[in-house]
Formats: sequence, structure tokens, C-alpha cells
Amino acid sequence: AIKSGELDAAEYFAFYRDRAEKDAFNSFTWVAEETPEQDTDSAFAGVPIAIKDLFATEGIPSQAGSKILEGYRPPYTATSVRNLKAAGGTLLGKTNQDEFAMGSSTENSAYGPTLNPWDTTRVPGGSSGGSAASVAAGTAPWSIGTDTGGSIRQPAALCGIVGLKPTYGAISRYGMIAFASSLDQAGTFTRDVTDTALLLSGMVGPDPCDSTSIGLPEPVKLPTARDLKGIRLGVPEELSGEGIEPGVLAAFNDTLDKARALGATVETMHLPHAPHGLAAYYLLAPAEASSNLARYDGVRFGFRAKDTTGGLLGMYTKTREEGFGAEVKRRIMLGTYALSSGYYDAYYAKAQKVRTLIARDFTNAWENFDFVVTPTAPGVAFELGAKTADPLAMYLNDFCTVPMSLAGIPGISIPNGLSDGLPVGFQIAGPAFSENRLLDAAYALE
Ligand code: GLN
Repeated sequence: AIKSGELDAAEYFAFYRDRAEKDAFNSFTWVAEETPEQDTDSAFAGVPIAIKDLFATEGIPSQAGSKILEGYRPPYTATSVRNLKAAGGTLLGKTNQDEFAMGSSTENSAYGPTLNPWDTTRVPGGSSGGSAASVAAGTAPWSIGTDTGGSIRQPAALCGIVGLKPTYGAISRYGMIAFASSLDQAGTFTRDVTDTALLLSGMVGPDPCDSTSIGLPEPVKLPTARDLKGIRLGVPEELSGEGIEPGVLAAFNDTLDKARALGATVETMHLPHAPHGLAAYYLLAPAEASSNLARYDGVRFGFRAKDTTGGLLGMYTKTREEGFGAEVKRRIMLGTYALSSGYYDAYYAKAQKVRTLIARDFTNAWENFDFVVTPTAPGVAFELGAKTADPLAMYLNDFCTVPMSLAGIPGISIPNGLSDGLPVGFQIAGPAFSENRLLDAAYALE
């Protein structure tokens, strides 16, 4: 805890609140109006935290980047956010995101795109782009986001900061507006790995409101490792060659050299099914989304279309037509198709089998390796608009991050240099519940 005389917690909050209000990158969809009471005896002593829009926050707009949730102020707060508050964190603002977390650039937000603080003609990545940009620009010291297929790790890489997607179930999903429930995972954005450990420690834990939450087997420790002696790193050939930009590969190889210098062994290995991750993910995630998004009908939440005809069905239809953006509609159509009775076995059931094979590839990897490492994203931040007309090009951003999501295992992206003046990320993935070891490895390498 911060002792009085060292740093005034209220002043600290006011400093960030002022910066957040003047934010030039459209990172925020809402900023706290005043400086709340600070509990300076708590673990976080009032540290301001920016929260992705899709976390439910009582009485505060929680719109998941969507017009269909316009004006929605939930009657309750997500468990993870309540845990942070209990640890003494203070809500600084809500951050911009791709609508319902569908996207890799934050251009799919109904509230306009977030800009990359390194180059405002470029995207910050997504879907948690506002959270990543706020920490990169120093408008928030810490932020939280969600990662379903890469939405924490990829924007962290593109904004030059640290992003952690913990093991599936480590943090409660209660109060996270759902995209794909078997993949959605909350996590952290910070400037260094020590902060990652601190912020994570304030979020984890089992929750009776989420039956898939389990917490972590041991308390989160502050990382201390100075070297990587005895650590075996596996470099999957499938995720570290073709399709990765040369500048990103060069930075990746430099970091592998650094790992060797720190005492790690680095070996090429195989995750034979990982290249099928994208195909499986883009069936499973839309399938779950099509079901989760059925609840937006103009009756229960947010937006309702005006002047509708055709009775109740007409109101539902016009509300969904006007309330959802193009990418969300695409996912609903893909997902409904994959789940339809004639195609279920060919698409949804097949994708589930591929998911199992990918998870097994990792289980096999842990027999010989402590961690698997890859570039986080295949390229650096791209120009705004460059991929909006080509969904498949956008989906390719998730090539290196989706396999870990399908397997439910933790992955962290740490900044590892620049390519053409833009930041690049290095991903370390470990076995389920290996967070403490993963943080140590990331700390030694950062
Ligand atoms: N870019 C991926 C998608 O559009 C992942 C998004 C996410 O992790 N929420 O689905």
C-alpha cells in the first residue's frame, strides 16, 4: 500500500482522469466524472484501471462497442471488476472495442475506431484496442480486456505493451458480455510483467456465478527470475515461418538469441494441427456467438428500432438489422449455418474435433518443452481501412494466437523491438495454470 507522503492516491487518479479525458486516440467510450474516495490501505491503493466496454459496470454504460446496447447501464458489476475494486483499484473509464469483441482492429466499433498511439494512421489491433491504446499512450496505467482468439495478445503486440490471456477459467466470466463462452477469457494490459502479475492477482478466483471459473491453483507471485537456465522453449514450425512479415521474424529470432543467452534451450518442434486453428475457430466462435447474441431483441437491453411494422417479429428484425454492424451479422450467419441440422456434423462437430487435436498437440509438447514461443501477430499495426473490405485478411491476424485459445492455455505477449518503427510482440504460451512460471519467463526476457 502507498503510505501518505509518498504519493497522493487522489492526485494520481486525477492526473490520469485528466489525461483520459483529453485522449486523442478514441480509446475511451466513457471516463469517470470525478475522483472517487481512495482506499490507500488497500493493495492497489486506488490505482486507476481502464475497463473494456464489454465488462458490465453497474449504472455505467456497458455497450460492448455495439449500437444494439446503446444506453445500456447494467444493474450489476462483473465479478472480475468487483474483485479489482475490492483490491483497491478504481474505475477510470470504459474502453473502445470491436463490436462484441469481433475483430482484430477496433474498426468494428459503433463508436468509431481507436487509433494506434504510435502512428494515428494505423489500427491499435483488436478487439481490445481501446484498452491497449490507453496503456500505450499513458492515459491509463493499467487496463483489462478480453481475449477469445487473440484480442488481448494481438493489440498488446501492435501497441508495444504487455498483454496476458490467462488459462481459461482463471477469471470469472460473470458480467462479461458474451461472444463465444467456451473461449472468452479476461486478462490484463500493462507496461511491464511485474504489473501484469499485480493486476492479475486482483482479478483471479473462482466464482459461484460462473460454473466454468476455477481460479488459479496457487496465489499469483511477483516474478523474480533473472535467467532462463534449464527452460526448454519450443518453436512450432507451423506458427513461425510462412505468412510472418520478415521484420517480425527478425525480431522473433533476436529474442530467441536473447533467450539462449539467458540459458534457455531453443528447439524447433511441431504443433501439427495448429494451422487448422483459424478454420476451427471461425466456425466455433461464430456458432457460439449466434446463440449468445439471440438475446438482443429490442426488448431486454439497450436499443430498439423506431417505427417498426409487422408486429413483434417486425420489431425484432428491424432492431437487429439497425443495431448490429456488418461483422456481427456475418458471424451470426456463419454460426447459424454451422449449427443448422444439415451442416452440423460437417462443420460444428468437425471443428470441435479439430479443437481437441490442437489441445492434444500442446499436451504432447509439454512432455519436451516448458513453453511454446511464437511471434504474437504476423505483422505490425496496419493502416486504418486496409483490411476492412477483406474479412479473411483480417482473420489471418489471429493465426498465432487462436491455437492457445482453442486449447484454453495461457499466453502472454511481451514487446520485443520494432519493425519499421512499429512495435512487435513475442508470445510465450504454457500449460494450463502455469501462470507463475509463465510470468517468470516473460520477466526474465523483457
Ligand atoms: N480477432 C478474433 C475475432 O475476431 C478474436 C477476437 C477476440 O479475441 N475477441 O474473433
